[in-house]
Amino acid sequence: MKYKLEEPVHGRIGTEKYQCTIEWRNGKFIADEPESSGGKDLGPDPFTLLLSSLASCTLVTLRMYIERKELDIPAIRVNTNLFQEIQNEELVTTIDRDIVFEGTVSEETKTKLQEIASRCPVSKILEGNTKVRTFVFRDTPGEKTVKYSNDEITVDWKPGYCQHSTRCWKQLLQVFDPREKKWVNVDGASAERIKQQVEQCPSGALLFHYNKDKEGNA
Ligand code: SF4
Repeated sequence: MKYKLEEPVHGRIGTEKYQCTIEWRNGKFIADEPESSGGKDLGPDPFTLLLSSLASCTLVTLRMYIERKELDIPAIRVNTNLFQEIQNEELVTTIDRDIVFEGTVSEETKTKLQEIASRCPVSKILEGNTKVRTFVFRDTPGEKTVKYSNDEITVDWKPGYCQHSTRCWKQLLQVFDPREKKWVNVDGASAERIKQQVEQCPSGALLFHYNKDKEGNA
């Protein structure tokens, strides 16, 4: 299990309607809702972001192909939009992607480029088998905790909080091995690597500390 992005996309919203701060690896931007939905329209709304993802993936995929084939196409434009309707009591979403190639492009090349566009990575996600898993971080005091320690570090394990994301053991099996009775082996990797993995637990089931930090706080 390897995530596509080294760092997840971070999002945060406070009480100000409906400004979301979205952080990506090289900066941040605001997402919002249009005024008709109670927002201030200070940034793209979620549907626009979804359609932007498809538009940009289409453009980049086409440009890469055009470069590889050394075609003379100075610019490409794309419009994306969607509509939704109920069919057989099910919500069906249709996304339309309209592409215009600037310059003189033969019909044969356009047909090939249409096929390339239809197979861009984001198209495959939207049309493929996509699941959304939702986890919630929990940290209520008093939850039953099992401790795994060596001289340097302690990993706290709160079985009641585990939401079985499988993230820990699929990414660091030498430390988190569910087949073992003592399933957290704190000697299985460096302290820094274990810390990094624990920080990715989405449920609060795993917590990490250096023993010297706890002693210092005592
Ligand atoms: S990462 Fe956290 S929630 Fe996921 S399986 Fe491990 S302990 Fe459970």
